[in-house]
Amino acid sequence: MNPFEIFRLTSPFGMRMHPVDHVKRFHRGVDLVVSPSNGVLKAFVGGEVLHAKMGLTGSGFGNMGNVVAIKDDKGYLHVYAHLSEIAVKVGQRVVRDQVVGNQGNTGKSTGAHLHYEIRKACSPSFGYTATESGVVEPTKYLQDYYSKEELSKVDEKDANAIIDKYLKPAYGVAKTAAERKEVGRLADALRAASGQAKQNV
Ligand SMILES: [Zn+2]
Repeated sequence: MNPFEIFRLTSPFGMRMHPVDHVKRFHRGVDLVVSPSNGVLKAFVGGEVLHAKMGLTGSGFGNMGNVVAIKDDKGYLHVYAHLSEIAVKVGQRVVRDQVVGNQGNTGKSTGAHLHYEIRKACSPSFGYTATESGVVEPTKYLQDYYSKEELSKVDEKDANAIIDKYLKPAYGVAKTAAERKEVGRLADALRAASGQAKQNV
């Protein structure tokens, strides 16, 4: 699953030749392009808006133009840079796919695009680090995030129905301790995925 499906990826995460400075430098996020040039941008994950204005030099968002930064439930900061318009306010809670602004060319940028990065922390300086130590690879982070979100959507009743109808009988006829342990592990995986406490060995 590609979380950036609707975009054209113009510059990947990692070492690259910088398009403005023309030196090899670590790219802290991904550059994504959607059309039209002022197309709406939606939150890849929900959270709390911590920044929604022009990024000032020294703030952790220098040269990044208009920046929206959203802290997710794991404490990671999702940074949307170079926006032409900002649609959210600091302190606001946004949900996944909510519009955060419009693509633009503000700050140090060679054309309308979204620079998107995910920082491991929100402070100091909004979690900015000069090296790669402070950021994660966005595609993998979102894939992991979405897959866990899907699991947490398992309905408690459905999970318990599967446990009662299939796993408990399987436990009863299991011939070895290893088999019972495996059935118990599966039951606990279902309980965990539906937000319930684990019960088995
Ligand atoms: Zn970039």
